[in-house]
Formats: sequence, C-alpha cells, structure tokens
Amino acid sequence: MRLINELERDVGYDAVVVGSGFGSMFFLQKFLQRRPRARVLILEWGAHNTHRWQLENHRNSPINNTNALTNRGDKPWLFSIGVGGGTNCWWGLSPRLHPSDFEMKSRYGVGVDWPVKYDELVPYYEQAERTMLVAGPEDLDVVYPGARFPARAHNMTTADRMLKAAAPDKHFAIPSARLRDSVGSRGACCANARCNLCPQDAKFTALNSLNDVFDHPSVDIMADAKVERLDVAANVVTGVIFNKGGREQKARGELVVLGANAIYSPWIMLRSGLRGHGLGRYLCEKMMVLAEVKLSGLKHFDGGTATTGFNISLLDGEHRRTRGSAFVLVENRPLDGLRPEWGRWRETMPMAAYIEDIPREECGVSVGEGPYAIAEPFEWSDYAVRGREAFLDNLPELLRALPVESITYRGTTSACHIQCTTRMGASVEDSVVDSNLIHHDIRNLVVVGNSVFPTVGSANPSLTTAALSLRAADKLMRSAA
Ligand SMILES: Cc1cc2nc3c(=O)[nH]c(=O)nc-3n(C[C@H](O)[C@H](O)[C@H](O)COP(=O)(O)OP(=O)(O)OC[C@H]3O[C@@H](n4cnc5c(N)ncnc54)[C@H](O)[C@@H]3O)c2cc1C
Ligand code: SF4
Repeated sequence: MRLINELERDVGYDAVVVGSGFGSMFFLQKFLQRRPRARVLILEWGAHNTHRWQLENHRNSPINNTNALTNRGDKPWLFSIGVGGGTNCWWGLSPRLHPSDFEMKSRYGVGVDWPVKYDELVPYYEQAERTMLVAGPEDLDVVYPGARFPARAHNMTTADRMLKAAAPDKHFAIPSARLRDSVGSRGACCANARCNLCPQDAKFTALNSLNDVFDHPSVDIMADAKVERLDVAANVVTGVIFNKGGREQKARGELVVLGANAIYSPWIMLRSGLRGHGLGRYLCEKMMVLAEVKLSGLKHFDGGTATTGFNISLLDGEHRRTRGSAFVLVENRPLDGLRPEWGRWRETMPMAAYIEDIPREECGVSVGEGPYAIAEPFEWSDYAVRGREAFLDNLPELLRALPVESITYRGTTSACHIQCTTRMGASVEDSVVDSNLIHHDIRNLVVVGNSVFPTVGSANPSLTTAALSLRAADKLMRSAA
C-alpha cells in the first residue's frame, strides 16, 4: 500500500476517489482491471488501522462514529471511518436484493422503481461474491435467479434444519462473507460472533481481500484526509478539496468518484453547490426487530456461524402495498443470554428481522456551520411499523415446526444500513445520479455506495453496493473505449 502524505506538485490524477469502503473499492477494482495504467488517488478521512491494530484496540477506528456526526435525532447512524470503511465493521451478511426490490412502484405502488433491474446486476453480483468468497447454499436460485456461491454454506442450527424440513422453499442458510474453510490469510469462521472485530479475519474486509487495489502500483492513498467539497466549474469537477492536518489542499483528477457513505457523500455535494432531486434527502435505513424464542427441549447455538438461517415467508408479496417486507434471521449467538434454568441453558433462540422502510423526502442530512454533517431527526414510517407488527404476529405460524414455549419481543434497533441520500433515477428532476451512477449534470463525477439506492428492500445492502460499483466502472470504461 503506497501511503502518501503530500501531493506531488502539479501532478493530476486520472481518478481521485473519495473514501475506501464498499462503494469506492469495488469501483476501483473494476476500473483498474480495465485501465491498469491509470493514476489513482484515494482520499480517506480515517487512518490505516491494520487488522492487528483493530484487535489490539478493540475498535475499528480511533474516530468515534458518534463524534463524527451531529445527530439531531434519537436513532444512531453507525458507520466506520478509516481505510476500508464499512468493510471493517460490517458483520458479513451478504444476501442479494430480491428482484421485486427493484420494482416497488410498478409491482406494489409504493416508493420508486430502480433504473437498474435485478437481471442486469446478476453478473456483477457473481463477481462481488467471488471477491468476498461468499459462503451460501446451493438451492437459493429459486429466490435469487442465478445465485451460485463460490464457498460452501455454513452449517445451520438444528432449529434451522427443522424449519427447512417443514418449508424447504422458505428457509435457507444465509449467504455470508465469512469463510467456512480457511483461504489464504482468511481463517475459518469459529462462530464466536464478534464479527465487527473478527479475530480469525474470516470475514471479508477490503484490507484482507482487495490488496489488488490497495497495493496496485498506480494507486496512491492519502489517509487522514477529510474531503470538504468539490471544485466545480461549467459542469465539470476540477478538483477535490480536502483537509489534512488542518491545511486545506486540492487534488486534481480527470474523474472523481465519491464514495464517502450516505451521510458524507451528500454533505460534500451540498457544500459544493450541486443539485439533483433528493440530494441529501430520503435518508433511510431499515428497522431491526429482535425477538427471543424460548424452546422446549430443543438446544440451540449449534450452528457454524453467528447468523445461520433466513426465512423468506414475509419477504415479498402483495403485503408490500401497505407494509414493509421482513427479512427474518435465525441468530446463532446468545443475544438475550442463556436460560437460567438448570440444564436448559441453550433452549433459547434469538431472532431478528430487517423491516423495509420507504424513504421519505422529509428525512435527510444537512450542512451547518460546524465541521460535521447534520442528521436530521428521524422516525420510522407507519409502513415499517406495520411491517414490524406483521413480523411479530406471524412468528408463531412461521415457527410452527419448532417446540416453542414463548416468544418475547426484545426491541427495535438500528440495522446500520444508511442509504438513499443521492438516489439514482432517470433525470435531475427525480434523482441525483443516473443508472450508471454518473451525476446527471457533472459527467466526470461518479457517486458510489449505499447513498444511490432509490429504495432499501429488506436485505443487507453491501453486496448490492459492491455489484452496483462493479457495474458502474464496467459501463464507464466500455463507454470510454
Ligand atoms: C456494525 C455494523 C454491521 C454491519 N453489518 C453489515 C452486514 O452484515 N451486511 C451488510 O450488507 N452491511 C452491513 N453493514 C453496513 C455496511 O457497513 C454498509 O452497507 C457499507 O459500508 C456501505 O458502503 P459505502 O461505500 O456506502 O460506505 P462505507 O463503506 O462506510 O465507505 C465510506 C468511506 O468513506 C470515508 N469517508 C467518509 N466521509 C469522508 C470524507 N468527508 N472524506 C474522505 N473520506 C470519507 C469513510 O472513512 C469510508 O472509508 C454494517 C454496518 C455496521 C456499522
Ligand atoms: S463469527 Fe467469529 S470467526 Fe466468524 S466472522 Fe464472526 S467474529 Fe469472525
């Protein structure tokens, strides 16, 4: 990794990339495959914190997330600042979006349709799954056409297997970017469920799997460089203004790729005077609902990784006209502790559900006087609240194959999937970027990352973010050829 502290005088880059998380790194992977001689500068707000540093310091970054944002609401917005971005703190759950997630308006009359459809993303999903070595089951292509995983799925728990036997087309091992079998420097997952700080390095991170980008001879990385705004003249970005060590500097690039997460990408664009419908608005993430299921005589926590199974009974269908989709997970980690009764310690099964929300224009990110973005107050919509109620109401039926003693709602929390603040769409009247993630007005500006999602679905987003980036770089380089 070529870390630099100073820009060479008068050197311009072919591409200046802001941030080094999912969006930026997968874009660069494809970009460098197509243009290996291009000179690239990555500007990263955080430091290069190695895996060892993260384990020794029990955190992903010295920058505390809550201090890196002015949050005017109660709900936390969690992200990680540092080389590798969210690939460091994420938990590795890697499902695809459902084909319907791309067509919410035409299928169910809510939200908007995406300008990219599931089928167009399939080859890029495959590429991202190969890079991350996603472990997944062999029978998932009935739900996600074309899904074939490069690594074998983790063992499900006994409870998962009973649910699978009762409803083979509804219950599956969850795809995850955690290795079951060690490959290279990545160890085998040992199911200890500390995945934001994985001691085995079993989980995909940019630092353990994207060395072809970080160590590429034509890539310079400047860490501790917080991007403040873009210099734009006559609909062209001419430079990226960043602050390093209290000194403001400008980096020049023919192409600028903005992947500073769904809080900071719109903040940088708003500070640069850019436009596009919904810039900084529609801030959204799904709800995470927790439930504890007590079992009678059935022992849990015998699966091969932290989260083992998922159920699609409430994922898609006409209910999405009025309430959010639910992506239902079986957790193989004692979120609620073990049971106190003698000998019955493991007769409990934690469950979680991601509940879809519909992005609303009134929720957003704004710019104030201070150095940090402002997240405006946020509340879940009635659409998501109804989705949560339906999940809890339907749980007894969904778990009919298990000896359930009781089900207790354990609260609602943040899913940590910040999205939708620079949405893609047809024109500047309805969105910020086009289907290839290029800004509608500024054609040498590509925006990558979770911010470009027009709607959120109910699955974890990062695999889709990676696939969108691979596709955007592929389309851009083909059009330039
Ligand atoms: C605890 C936790 C668990 C998660 N688990 C999962 C999971 O299991 N599955 C899943 O799909 N998703 C998960 N996520 C979400 C995942 O982290 C995000 O979906 C993903 O990181 C978003 O990618 P991105 O490119 O938009 O942003 P990021 O990956 O956050 O990348 C943004 C980059 O920009 C940098 N940056 C920000 N502002 C600036 C600036 N002003 N100047 C320069 N650089 C800047 C950041 O340091 C970072 O490198 C989890 C998140 C958290 C917090
Ligand atoms: S369960 Fe343990 S070994 Fe597996 S990815 Fe998570 S922290 Fe790493």
